[in-house]
Amino acid sequence: MPVNKEKYQEIKQELSAKDVQLIAVSKIQSNEDILAMYEMGQRDFGENYVQEVVEKQQALPKDINWHFIGHLQRNKVKYIVPFVHLIHGVDSFDLLKEINKQGKKQQRTIDCLLQVHLAEEETKFGLNAGELEAIIKELQDNSEVYANVFIKGLMGMASFSDDLEKVRGELAQLKKLFDQYAGNSNPVLHFTKLSMGMSGDYKIAIEERSNMVRIGSLLFGARPAK
Ligand SMILES: *Cc1c(COP(=O)(O)O)cnc(C)c1O
Repeated sequence: MPVNKEKYQEIKQELSAKDVQLIAVSKIQSNEDILAMYEMGQRDFGENYVQEVVEKQQALPKDINWHFIGHLQRNKVKYIVPFVHLIHGVDSFDLLKEINKQGKKQQRTIDCLLQVHLAEEETKFGLNAGELEAIIKELQDNSEVYANVFIKGLMGMASFSDDLEKVRGELAQLKKLFDQYAGNSNPVLHFTKLSMGMSGDYKIAIEERSNMVRIGSLLFGARPAK
């Protein structure tokens, strides 16, 4: 599936006018298609699978920023810690502790977003408001323990739904949580990134003040079967 270059240019312009960062979601796409987008200037790519991103990182230009946007298993954290740019899907305290531990071992500080559960679907991962609050409190009370992670904000996925007002409500709810904690800075926590919006809902997400969107199929076409 060839990259849709016109769509890429159009979305780039739309986003840069609003200071929104584009993460091109390249999961299951070929290195060739990623390179085509790289040559148009794209440097931030989003991936969901550990083995796949490790292979792509080795094969593709070293100035690509790899964003891990999928569900991350604790036993695989160590494979992406050497190079990952931002982990969007931190959905449990145990996962955050493992990222911190591997960061310490490999002498890197890993930028992370905490993933909040928004959609009604049970299959979507993420923290509820209470779990989010507990993690933030722990990071405030014991920030010296977590010196190898840095929490830059929140990530969420709205329901896959034709009911756009419902989608908007979920995204607005995430923005509200973001604002609630945006003032709580400390050495390991400072909210500046709100990662919300995908091919189907990025326009709504921007209206609801997202500043980072993760777009795959609009740019690359429908994903091939894995
Ligand atoms: C696959 C994926 C995307 C991109 O989805 P599209 O609908 O293809 O834009 C965004 N975010 C996450 C977490 C994903 O898994």
